[in-house]
Amino acid sequence: MSIVDNLSQVRRRIEAACCRAGRAVDDVTLVGVSKGTAADAVAEACAAGLTDVGENRVQEAQEKIPAARALGARPRWHLIGHLQTNKAKTATELFAILHSVDSLRLAEAVSRRAGERTQVLLEVNVAKDAAKFGFAPEEVTSALTAISQLPNLDVRGLMTIAPQTHDPETSRPCFRRLRELRDGLGLAELSMGMTGDFEVAIEEGATYVRVGRAIFGERKGT
Ligand SMILES: *Cc1c(COP(=O)(O)O)cnc(C)c1O
Repeated sequence: MSIVDNLSQVRRRIEAACCRAGRAVDDVTLVGVSKGTAADAVAEACAAGLTDVGENRVQEAQEKIPAARALGARPRWHLIGHLQTNKAKTATELFAILHSVDSLRLAEAVSRRAGERTQVLLEVNVAKDAAKFGFAPEEVTSALTAISQLPNLDVRGLMTIAPQTHDPETSRPCFRRLRELRDGLGLAELSMGMTGDFEVAIEEGATYVRVGRAIFGERKGT
């Protein structure tokens, strides 16, 4: 299947999930995750109407963003992977929104280096997976209080990565917990759901879904 066909199929699945959940399709933004794929694939997806693109590494994005632009693609770029503090400045220059602010130290670094107000989401390690980054659920309230006081940051919501299994239903409690946390904090955005579980995420309230393989195909290596 081509990227264009994949994209329209993902869109149909998003519409169906919104319909099941009684939500407006406009409430959900599809972020196409292009890590491990070439700039021409991004350009092809953008030509077919993809408006938002996610990358998980600054270094890869530093090459791909100008290359995609040279091919006529000007999506809104999202950073979805762990960010090292020494790359905070570059990240604020490359990306419109950072989904993966996972420590106060990183938030401070982004705040200091941001030339203008930067949209961020706080990553929450809902499942308390030792291999994952993010605030523990019980830390989020105090983290938000501290981060909200930093200049140049606009905290828009929360992000999580569910434990990966073959059954999307296993992600549901994780997504539901993130929504409860977000509701308690009065924030707008919920970034959750990937190729394996984005429909469940939409049913549980996702406003951003981050979908890679279902659009760009299986990745080599990563
Ligand atoms: C790679 C990645 C995705 C997309 O994963 P797919 O399974 O390809 O849809 C989403 N979010 C994050 C944080 C990722 O690293």
